[in-house]
Amino acid sequence: MLKSMVRFTVLASGSRGNSAVVSGGRTRILVDAGLSCRELFRRMRLAGEDPETLDAILVTHEHQDHVNGLAVTARKLGIPVYFTEGTHRAWMRWLTPRRQMTYNQWLEQCRKQAEARQAEADAAAGEGEADETDGAAEPVTGEPVTAELAAVEAGAETAAGAAEGALTRASAGKDPTSLPAVEYFAAGVPFHIGDVAVSPFTIPHDAVDPVGFVLQAEGVRMGFATDLGYVPPNVKAQLKGLDLLLIESNHDLEMLRDGPYPWSVKQRVLSRVGHLSNDAAGEFLETEYDGQAAYVILAHLSESNNHPELARVTAERALNGRASLLANSLLLAAQHEPLLPIDF
Ligand SMILES: [Zn+2]
Ligand SMILES: [Zn+2]
Repeated sequence: MLKSMVRFTVLASGSRGNSAVVSGGRTRILVDAGLSCRELFRRMRLAGEDPETLDAILVTHEHQDHVNGLAVTARKLGIPVYFTEGTHRAWMRWLTPRRQMTYNQWLEQCRKQAEARQAEADAAAGEGEADETDGAAEPVTGEPVTAELAAVEAGAETAAGAAEGALTRASAGKDPTSLPAVEYFAAGVPFHIGDVAVSPFTIPHDAVDPVGFVLQAEGVRMGFATDLGYVPPNVKAQLKGLDLLLIESNHDLEMLRDGPYPWSVKQRVLSRVGHLSNDAAGEFLETEYDGQAAYVILAHLSESNNHPELARVTAERALNGRASLLANSLLLAAQHEPLLPIDF
């Protein structure tokens, strides 16, 4: 049987969770892990992918809709996570927040930490320490917290609510930041994960060190560009000669202006380090994009401030203006179900 060499599968896309699987040669990479581990595995199987065959997780930035299931997934599969150092640090800070507390709360925390250390020491004295630690931590860290998701949808990805949830989980007694292996990369410095070449590039977004990627395998080039306030020259330069382009089409400007978000959150989404509007994505597709990709996937659509048909029409109009375009099969990534796998 002929086996496809390069495959691209969007598992989820939107402010409640982002993740995709890229297979090239003998290598399979999960790009972001914004759903719970359980849900990621469910969707992979639904798409015909075997989670056990993943080799690595690649992270764009530390916002919760990109890392929600990260630690549990990495621990369960025993695979390395690739971050920039800044993103790794920010992610660890998010999972172990410091906050003001009363003396009694502090005493209580010390007591719990001492108990946890003792429990861990007892477990280590037994057998199979690593497995037990991860197994016990899993149900606690694996579940999305409703309040956090609400905060994410509101755009307040670093809100106090999220920190609160993380604290609850941190105090469960395990180190929520422990990973089987961490590999650092830097924006602008290409590297390899197995058979896949990775080119990370800086994007303008309100995270510590956010990046987009161009992944290349077997000569197939796939670009990731979501979570960016606008398309700066360095991103335009990267998104050339692609076979597949995943680009953000986050909101309709009028829907956002008239929509339910508080003014401060609207300002954040609209800012130069927020999210790309349908119009901004359309402008990029019409004026800067080289029209070479066989697939253009609109991604990270807001559920509150966009409608899939608005995003699609804007992008179609922009692409139709390009008379030379033959390819450009236009797809919309969804929040609640995976896209059909794309084979090259
Ligand atoms: Zn983000
Ligand atoms: Zn996001």
